[in-house]
Amino acid sequence: MNATDSAEPSPGPAAAQPLVSRLGALDLLLVSIWCGLTAGVLEVLIVILRKQFVDWNKLYWMPRQFVWLVPVADLAIFSVLGVALALLSRLGRVGRSVAIRLLCGLFFVPMVWAAFPLIYGPASFVLAVGLGVQAGAFVERRAAAVRRFTLLTCAIPALVLLGFAGWTFGGDRLLAWKEAGRPLPSPGSPNVVLVVLDTVAAEHLALYGYDRPTSPTLETLADRGILFRRAVAPSSWTLPSHASFFTGRWPYELSAGWLTPLDRQAPSLAEYLSRHGYATAGFVANTWYCSADSGLGRGFTVYRDYLLDDLGAFKYAVLIDRPLEGARQLDNELRRRFGIDLLRPFVRTVWWRFNASSRKDAAHVNAELLGWLSNRPDPHRPFFAFLNYYDAHYPYELPAGAIHRHGLRPRNDREVDLIQNWRTVDKRNLMPGEIGFVRNSYDDCVTALDEQLGRLVDALERRDLLGNTWLVVLSDHGESFGEHKGDFGHGTSLYQTQLHVPLLVVPPTPQRTRMRIDVEVSLRDLPATIVDLLGFQDPRAFPGESLVPLWAQAGAGRPVETSPAISVVVPTDPVEPDPLKLMESREVWASLTQDGWSYILGEGTSGEQLYHLKDDPGERLDHARDPAAADRLASMRAALNRATGGPLKLEQFKP
Ligand SMILES: [Zn+2]
Repeated sequence: MNATDSAEPSPGPAAAQPLVSRLGALDLLLVSIWCGLTAGVLEVLIVILRKQFVDWNKLYWMPRQFVWLVPVADLAIFSVLGVALALLSRLGRVGRSVAIRLLCGLFFVPMVWAAFPLIYGPASFVLAVGLGVQAGAFVERRAAAVRRFTLLTCAIPALVLLGFAGWTFGGDRLLAWKEAGRPLPSPGSPNVVLVVLDTVAAEHLALYGYDRPTSPTLETLADRGILFRRAVAPSSWTLPSHASFFTGRWPYELSAGWLTPLDRQAPSLAEYLSRHGYATAGFVANTWYCSADSGLGRGFTVYRDYLLDDLGAFKYAVLIDRPLEGARQLDNELRRRFGIDLLRPFVRTVWWRFNASSRKDAAHVNAELLGWLSNRPDPHRPFFAFLNYYDAHYPYELPAGAIHRHGLRPRNDREVDLIQNWRTVDKRNLMPGEIGFVRNSYDDCVTALDEQLGRLVDALERRDLLGNTWLVVLSDHGESFGEHKGDFGHGTSLYQTQLHVPLLVVPPTPQRTRMRIDVEVSLRDLPATIVDLLGFQDPRAFPGESLVPLWAQAGAGRPVETSPAISVVVPTDPVEPDPLKLMESREVWASLTQDGWSYILGEGTSGEQLYHLKDDPGERLDHARDPAAADRLASMRAALNRATGGPLKLEQFKP
């Protein structure tokens, strides 16, 4: 009798005993490998099927590499468990019967968690383990058959895993091969670097009159470029805004929404430039709404979104993510309600080990671009690079080593909470000092981001690239801090705090041009503008109007046609910002910014608002019911309705 046999409790039924005795330590190892591979592959398939056919939310919020990362993570977990159980079984510390039930119990957990993400985790865990223990008893009675079955079928999930990996790596190679095969554009074609300062409001930049020195780099760039003083975002949050300035279409013409990616219908700027021989590369830090998953990666040969270094790469497996997330939430609750720090050390070490990499700072985005520039296969091919910096987006935490220039390091738990959990903090009863603290922290982040932009420009200069590169710097939307009652964050309204964004076009260095454009322009015109400034002579490439004539013909006195500065949002609720709870009761808002006025039309009960921005940039005095402004109200209402084909309805936003 070997050591594993001695670990068995009292003998089972006489008929089952001979089969049970054949389950050895190697069998446990084999079963654990089979369980890890199969559970991982099935978890991936369940998530894909759920997203395709069941969920409202079509966004994965995971890197596309999750299809092979998850099975690898599950394989690692089960293998470690299998080795431990095999050893303990050999040492007689764990009975084989318990071991096999444990393995089978855990086998069902990833599938149940992946299939029912909204069911309370511990409850579904008990359900899965219950299922597994029953299966374990079945397996135990058929040891020989199980050994045969696992040996014969282990290759199937392994092959599927290899197929998933081949799909992601092979897809990348295929795109690179296609790019290499395209003819080069005409010699001397300039590059384009498009930098999006996600969530940077124009009002918080010294360049736009803010009373804090938040934007020295932007000011230097503006000295040799074209500054748009009244640029308006097509929406007040990330995805529809990016989707609009990538396609030239308005948000209501696109599928991009809180829970839906940009589909393939409208051609994108990256696709256009790629087709015309440009190398295209995107480096994005906003993984919620700019990752490949969002649809914005279409047309880019290289697209880097999630950080996949260290252990963080494996957090997408539910077996890792759900317990860690549960521990973090429990830690938050214990601290908030009872002041208990019991789980703090665990969260600080283990949770951060798997999550610290989820936020990519601007320095990392810069490094990715510069690394790509150093290693790209065809350095003579002009390039279109898109950068999305996320450092000014909440949580307003400075990257390690950055300096607090306007605010203070959080001094107590409440301030830590305000910074780290700003999205979900109940903002109905905030103290003025608390709002001030958060604003200061945001300004710190904006200033640190401006510094990183400066480092990028310096690096491009050192590589002698600016002489042949158009640099376009903008933001996708601004940020509110309660300027209007209850309005915090973004995607919650269409006030100028969320719509007025920086836009700066810097020509290749020899063409230094210091110019200011004071008319309202929409970011929607960006693709038409870029195609124009690259000299493609293709005015119909994208909807919208090129902004180039605004500065190329300045002084000529001729009126220049631009798109109306329309903005649209299906607002989230700042008190309940979870987009999953959104679509039931929200209403569409649309706005038009024109001639120094802002007109906002809300669907249903929200009604109309009218503000005179020149006299009242904070939009405090609503002129919608002011008889003196009746003509202005009527003309802006008519202009907005003309542009959007009538008041927008929520249905238009449901793909
Ligand atoms: Zn954004």
